[in-house]
Amino acid sequence: MMAEKLLEVKNLKKHFVASRSFFGRPTSILKAVDGVSFSLHKGETLGLVGESGCGKSTTGRTVIGLYEPTEGEVYFDGQKLDPGKFAEDKIQMIFQDPYACLNPRMTVGDIIGEPLDIHHVYDNPRDRMARVYELLNLVGLNPEQANRFPHEFSGGQRQRIGIARALAINPQVIICDEPISALDVSIQAQVVNLLSRLQKELGLTYLFIAHDLAMVRYISQRVAVMYLGKLVEVADTEDLYEHPLHPYTQALLSAIPVPDPDNKKERIHLDGELPSPIDPPDGCRFCTRCPYATERCRTEEPVMKDFGNRRCACHYVDETGFHGQKTVKH
Ligand code: SF4
Repeated sequence: MMAEKLLEVKNLKKHFVASRSFFGRPTSILKAVDGVSFSLHKGETLGLVGESGCGKSTTGRTVIGLYEPTEGEVYFDGQKLDPGKFAEDKIQMIFQDPYACLNPRMTVGDIIGEPLDIHHVYDNPRDRMARVYELLNLVGLNPEQANRFPHEFSGGQRQRIGIARALAINPQVIICDEPISALDVSIQAQVVNLLSRLQKELGLTYLFIAHDLAMVRYISQRVAVMYLGKLVEVADTEDLYEHPLHPYTQALLSAIPVPDPDNKKERIHLDGELPSPIDPPDGCRFCTRCPYATERCRTEEPVMKDFGNRRCACHYVDETGFHGQKTVKH
């Protein structure tokens, strides 16, 4: 049975002014996130995937309140969050480049203790320090390192410091924004395993934003696929990886290398670049690159259809699969 919804995102939009006229009027709008809806169930990991520039990170930053949404709402445990306000006691974020978000002039102990100070969690410095030591232990660092500075740590250790800081005031949801892509491959698995252990121990809920599809499969129970500011498919991980319905999901997954040389799967090549979110195509946003696009696709935007535990936005997908072309296998 599916756990209760902890976070619900409804029709979220984040548009940026890309250029203005001489008189300051907006002349072009970049629709980075354009009507995204999804929910996070308590204790799960939802992977959010798509090409770079598709709006994944902007979605995460708008959900957490770093950006004020242009439209749409975010609900936490049924309560609507104030738009554009950082609900840091409920939702925290782990960033791609841990070094960029750690103040180089602060000791690690003060970096981790800062959220405790901002929220006046402890009156007593000894209790505060005990919590800092506890957090360092929790992420696999030595409490004796609390007086050192960020530059004295490796990339993987700095990401652990970022995780400890994110956990300081016990948030329930963590948005992991490409948390391993800046790390050496040998370190990536360690950080992912740490995130998995913390999820079990602390009952955390993750939105895991990444472009490494193999890693997303490993860590996520459900996956949402994003293209040009919109979600195109959301499904349980194994259903999505074994039977992708949306032509974009099929193309994206066909690019994952397979270790078994006997299992030769056909790679679907997408023609052309990702169109600009300033001037997205009419109709289906994927129509300029979709091998199955029809006239209808170029004029009518597909709605997100709900098939029980999966959702898909394509005119030619129904509960039995992709119908438009016989060449698409399920
Ligand atoms: Fe392709 Fe048309 Fe489906 Fe869009 S609606 S994914 S263009 S078949």
